[in-house]
Amino acid sequence: VKTIGVLTSGGDAPGMNATIRAVVRTALANGLKVKGIMRGYAGLLDEEIIDMDAKSVSDIINRGGTILYTARCPMFKEPEVQKKAADICKKNGIDGLVVIGGDGSFQGASRLAENGINTIGIPGTIDLDIACTDYTIGFDTAVNTAMEAIDKVRDTSTSHERCSIIEVMGREAGYIALWCGIANGAEEILTVEHYDGNEQRIIDSVLEKRKVGKKHHIIVNAEGIGDSYGLAQRIEAATGVEARATIIGHIQRGGNPTCKDRVYASTMGAKAVDLLIRGKTNRVIAYKNGEFVDFDIQEALAMKKELDPYLYSMAKKLSR
Ligand code: ADP
Repeated sequence: VKTIGVLTSGGDAPGMNATIRAVVRTALANGLKVKGIMRGYAGLLDEEIIDMDAKSVSDIINRGGTILYTARCPMFKEPEVQKKAADICKKNGIDGLVVIGGDGSFQGASRLAENGINTIGIPGTIDLDIACTDYTIGFDTAVNTAMEAIDKVRDTSTSHERCSIIEVMGREAGYIALWCGIANGAEEILTVEHYDGNEQRIIDSVLEKRKVGKKHHIIVNAEGIGDSYGLAQRIEAATGVEARATIIGHIQRGGNPTCKDRVYASTMGAKAVDLLIRGKTNRVIAYKNGEFVDFDIQEALAMKKELDPYLYSMAKKLSR
């Protein structure tokens, strides 16, 4: 491999910049050239390709977002578009590619590998919903941001003796909700994976906890369940306890990455370049059982993981 390309794709996540920096500097340290591809696969197709040197990644390890920008590119699912993208890589001398993104981005990476570009995926998403790995870039930052926000809502919720429904991100996965639910000592955690839609049980629980003298009632609701304002209204109507909804929203996607996100994101970037140097392709970097490892992309995409049932049942017991 002589020239490595790097792109970010799908949803952004704090720590992606640390990965870009690690890819660039590891490649340079090994005497390789690096090109940055702007706006994911869309930018690749538009040939938005820039030369990168050590200075192009100065002062970014501490910054959220992605300096390469990110975009969705639905037409990348078409084989002729994938072939065109591989040809653009070849034309620009890119013979190794690092793709930072989620499962969708890895599908695209795998197609480019089939078209002759050595490609490595790195898991970047605040949702932690990539089956092959226990860690994804941005989750630690996002969950800490949400936790701090919930702490703040809790203060005022206690003062006013309210019930608070706080909606955190996670459309298809409840990791942020579960972790915040535990970290913030929430009375209730609603996730797509576990919530059965039984609002009467939630209402009974609000009344019961009031009876035993609890001054607040925190419900962490995952984005995938949604309807936080409606839920607040229904709880207030049924219990007489004042209920308010707060949707934390995109704050969770930004901000300076935590130390863990900076260090793990850097390590994954460096490992991706190491794999390319060793001639590997169609692999994804993962963190599994306390170690950085790599898997075949298709094997990784076929894996399943579930929201830790022990954590979920523990959270219930701890919130009594
Ligand atoms: P994520 O990478 O976070 O899962 P998306 O699912 O939006 O985010 O995928 C990001 C991009 O990856 C898409 O916009 C598209 O360009 C590409 N992609 C997604 N699915 C496929 C697929 N099956 N084949 C090829 N490319 C895909």
